[in-house]
Amino acid sequence: MPITLPKLPYATNALEPHMSRETLEIHHGRHHKTYVDKANELLRGTELEDAALEDIVRRADGKLYNNAAQAWNHDFFWKCLTPEQPPVGSELQRALEQHFGDVDAFEKKFTEAAAAVFGSGWAWLVRTADGGLEIATTANGDTPLSDDQTPLLTCDLWEHAYYIDYRNDRVQYLQQFFPLVNWEFVEQNLLAPARGGRRAAQAVGEQPKFH
Ligand code: FE
Repeated sequence: MPITLPKLPYATNALEPHMSRETLEIHHGRHHKTYVDKANELLRGTELEDAALEDIVRRADGKLYNNAAQAWNHDFFWKCLTPEQPPVGSELQRALEQHFGDVDAFEKKFTEAAAAVFGSGWAWLVRTADGGLEIATTANGDTPLSDDQTPLLTCDLWEHAYYIDYRNDRVQYLQQFFPLVNWEFVEQNLLAPARGGRRAAQAVGEQPKFH
């Protein structure tokens, strides 16, 4: 079963003025779609053809990994955003306070880490294998799903995410990202059971990698 381009969970103009309709149309309709199409092209005829996207990300390598991971990252990114921001839930607030001081301090650290990424990539809030919270960054299409980490929140740092609205000003984009964060989704991820990473998947199933 091919990977599908998921529908956006809101209208393309719903995130304005923080993120424009044009950005969403191009980012979702062209960039995200291209990763989905490319991954499907590369999947055809392989043993991973019928696997779920998350499994493909954990088991693939090379070009297929890059495109499948980008398809997964984008799907997760859209879910991290909402036009009607809910308040930070009590469990999430407690966890952010414990690890970063408070919510503002977390946003500041996340922004600093995201701003420091050289070139394209992603900034993440992840739950580590021992249950702690960490801010992580990945380069290009890489994703923490590859490790034993559970992604809770992500921000797309590729210029295609912000060039139309903010030109090359990533920090301004990050400032406009936080009013859109779906804290309810982040808390759901915090409370969800561990997904098990690439290493875990290999240890259990000893699955071969596919190029
Ligand atoms: Fe993107």
